[in-house]
Amino acid sequence: MLRSVTRTTVLQLLHTNVSDLVPRGRRLADPVWRQRHRSMVVLIVAHAVGFAVYGAMTNAGAPAIAFQAGPPAAAAALAVAPWLRRSWRSFAAVLGLLSSSALLLQATNGRTDSHFHFFVMIAIIALYQQWSTFGLAFGFVLLHHAVIGVLAPDVVFDTPAAQQRPLLWTAVHGGYILAACAASMVAWRLIEKERERAERVLDSTAEGVYEVDTDGRITFANSAVGRILGCDEERLLGRDHHDALSHDAGEPGAEDRSVCMACAVTTKISGRSAKSTFRRHDGAAFPVECTGHPVVEKGRQIGSVMTFRDRTTQAMLTRQALYDDLTGLANRSLLLEHLEHALARIDRNRTALAILFCDLDEFKPVNDTFGHAAGDELLMVVSGRLQEAVRAHDTVARFGGDEFVALCTDLASERDALTIAERFLEALREPIVVSGQQVQISASVGLTVTTNPSSAPELLLGEADAAMYRAKEKGRNRVEVFDEELRARATKRLQLEDELRTAIAQGELRVHYQPKVSLISGALAGVEALVRWQHPELGLVRPAEFLAVAEESGLIVPLGQYVLEESCRQLARWRTRGGVWERCTLSVNLSCQQLAHTDLVETVRAALHATGVPGERLCLEVSEQVLMDDAPLTIDTLRSLKRLGVTLAVDDFGTGFSSLSYLTNAPIDVLKVDRSLVSTLHQAKESWSVVAAALGLSRCLGLSAVAEGVEQTDQADALRDLGCEHAQGYHFAAPQSAAALEALLDTETGCLAAISGLKIEHG
Ligand code: C2E
Ligand code: CA
Ligand code: CA
Repeated sequence: MLRSVTRTTVLQLLHTNVSDLVPRGRRLADPVWRQRHRSMVVLIVAHAVGFAVYGAMTNAGAPAIAFQAGPPAAAAALAVAPWLRRSWRSFAAVLGLLSSSALLLQATNGRTDSHFHFFVMIAIIALYQQWSTFGLAFGFVLLHHAVIGVLAPDVVFDTPAAQQRPLLWTAVHGGYILAACAASMVAWRLIEKERERAERVLDSTAEGVYEVDTDGRITFANSAVGRILGCDEERLLGRDHHDALSHDAGEPGAEDRSVCMACAVTTKISGRSAKSTFRRHDGAAFPVECTGHPVVEKGRQIGSVMTFRDRTTQAMLTRQALYDDLTGLANRSLLLEHLEHALARIDRNRTALAILFCDLDEFKPVNDTFGHAAGDELLMVVSGRLQEAVRAHDTVARFGGDEFVALCTDLASERDALTIAERFLEALREPIVVSGQQVQISASVGLTVTTNPSSAPELLLGEADAAMYRAKEKGRNRVEVFDEELRARATKRLQLEDELRTAIAQGELRVHYQPKVSLISGALAGVEALVRWQHPELGLVRPAEFLAVAEESGLIVPLGQYVLEESCRQLARWRTRGGVWERCTLSVNLSCQQLAHTDLVETVRAALHATGVPGERLCLEVSEQVLMDDAPLTIDTLRSLKRLGVTLAVDDFGTGFSSLSYLTNAPIDVLKVDRSLVSTLHQAKESWSVVAAALGLSRCLGLSAVAEGVEQTDQADALRDLGCEHAQGYHFAAPQSAAALEALLDTETGCLAAISGLKIEHG
């Protein structure tokens, strides 16, 4: 058993080692073969001449000379015959070389020393790196020794022992030849391995690498060459590289453009050209950057190595990186680049530059009413008109959506900039036709002017943006200039951001809870967590004062995480009290930034896990505005959240002004009817109808409804009559601290009971 295992292992080892030494026998590239074959032919001819000269010197006579020199000469003739295939020409050379050995042996009457000639020839034949030539060589030697050895032993062997037993000695010599072949093969394999390694390295680069001889003919090409040109790189071997690759081969001036192709081949100078054009196999031209390096041996140039890189994708990427896809205008990056250059020039030219931030008014309704394609069409018309309104050297960029920013340079004063801004408004005054309909659009423009070369580009953009916001505030379709008032506002905003950052770090945030009650049973159905800031000087600050800054600065993400974790912890504590608290749900508001944040799902999962709150007790509220954007990423995140078992609510339902289509796409469970609808419920018949419609809609879609901002008894009554299940509002309880809420619910006179005709259940 053990012995058979050992034998198998030894055989396996032997097999792997031996098979590793066997050449894979890849066909030599034509130019390489041609070079080696030429040397063989020269060698054969040298033998033929040698035999002839020797015959003449020894007065051997014409027939003897012809017999000696004839076979190699004939073989050499066949080896160069153009009508013969490459392999036949190799065979002819093999026969020429070995017949020379045989004739030498004969001429020296089988001298042992002359047998060495065979070995030298075998070593030379190995240069063909081809199994069949080895086979032919071995067969030739074997046959020659056996046949001549039997017919005329003294022609092949000079010792009496060998002459008596020619077949035995033929076998011995055959063995040596076989060994010589084997040694050559091992050498061949080792060279092959080196070559494979080099090719592996060359093939792994994305650059095309090829080699040419001094005539410009391709002697090697890596696989990238084939890949880039769309053909088999082997087919290029032997062709003139200019004809095979260059797009403008033969055209006037082409040599200049692909200067490196020429100079590296004929002169010993390396060349580089970033503007060459190559041609793919299908004839299509493409831009390349190419370099050529001369290969010099002993001071003589023997060829060149050329490399080239397809610049198509690079050119495309550059375009994508700097220009807006839709309008072809510059994008933010390119505008910033131009702005930096313009700032650097301010000093020299002693002029001013202006940034105009232009935001379309009411673009979203156009998009929602006529569709995205029409919206795109409108943006293209707008971009064209804005570009016409500036001078040729100014830059108009699109910052995404309906925001356009213009950089105007070489201005004499702010007045010039204002003129351009007015031209923007004027340019949009004429209605735009999209989808066969006339659309009237306007813009709010914010403007900032600087003569200071060390202004920070991002800051200037911020100034123009702030001015644009004031234009919106002041009623749109107007121009506002960044001034001291706005500067003070911006400073205050930055200060607030700083303070808020510290507040989050130092634990100044609090969570207040507003109860949600069942309009049917009066029971506490849930609580909504609402953030507060316990400011050291200002006292308790409402979110309206700081949420906008939190959103803009990204601080909303850690803030939201705190509210989520803290309120889950609070709910877990309440749940231990049993009774109504156990059935209580917790609603937490999510901002759009949180939804876009990759960690959101994980944060929610972790908060539930850490507190043991069941998923179905947590309701996440997303504002209607966020859902209306209908971004696929938002919907994906909402679906992932749903998989945690949580419910999702549409917050502020009824404040969006158009599309309701998101209701069918987003995985929503609850509609929270906005306070603005509830507040006028009892005042106008129309409001009553709108709320009734919203509640009807939620019923049809199988969603539950919560009315927000209920402040009066008759509002609560009306909502109950309309079949609304739940409500929130000051009428029941204002948002308050956890402790205050507990106390409220523990007393019989808690304001939750204020709802008429309802008895509140207590825990
Ligand atoms: P919301 O989600 O619509 O919250 C309801 C807001 O209406 C709360 O304002 C609440 O105090 C107020 N409210 C409740 N009942 C009545 C009522 O009967 N009458 C009136 N006039 N108001 C009532 P608050 O707490 O100032 O929060 C304002 C908004 O800030 C919230 O609106 C919510 O969108 C946002 N917010 C609050 N906390 C967070 C939070 O932790 N994260 C996020 N992302 N947003 C939050
Ligand atoms: Ca809410
Ligand atoms: Ca709300």
